[in-house]
Amino acid sequence: MVEYLLKESFKKNLCPICLTVEIEMDEFFFWFEREGYHEYSSIKALFEHSCICKKHREQILGLKEKLNNTFELLAEMEIKELNGLVETKRFKRKVREINRDCRFCIEEKRIEKHAVETLCKSKELVESYINSPSIFCKKHTFMVLESIDNPELAQTILKKAISYLENVHERIEKYFNKIDYRSSEKPTREEQNAYLNAVKFFSNL
Ligand SMILES: [Zn+2]
Ligand SMILES: [Zn+2]
Repeated sequence: MVEYLLKESFKKNLCPICLTVEIEMDEFFFWFEREGYHEYSSIKALFEHSCICKKHREQILGLKEKLNNTFELLAEMEIKELNGLVETKRFKRKVREINRDCRFCIEEKRIEKHAVETLCKSKELVESYINSPSIFCKKHTFMVLESIDNPELAQTILKKAISYLENVHERIEKYFNKIDYRSSEKPTREEQNAYLNAVKFFSNL
């Protein structure tokens, strides 16, 4: 599945890892919204990492009052855990042991790691990336470089990032030359929007 998603993402002018993670997370939320919100095992998994981050809070809020099913059980589990804390003698130690991660962030990281590993294990996939219009964002460039064993392919990935950034930089320079009062030319739309391509590299989707 991830292999297929990566191949499809290479066709787009975006980071294929970001795109793959996004599609897989949509799938995860689709499943959560279909069944997971009232299913004991998934609520239990949610309870184990239940400091829900802002980004994922926004995503699950779409479930509206269906969330009463989730939080009825989650609140019960939490009350039990907090009562356990009230009664314990090793208070600080127990408090420290309570997990503060977001269940959905953990899933996102798992998918991301899996996508990077799948890509790096396949020479064919890496070569398809190199010859594609897609471009890894900075974070995924470095995750891939860390995980890839073939030094030549690593160099080629780096060169692809360099030439992408050189092109962005060149357009920004042209933009500034053209907005100079001495210039008779106006910046093109491509030059005006060069910052968008820079943001694409420095930020995730
Ligand atoms: Zn990315
Ligand atoms: Zn999260």
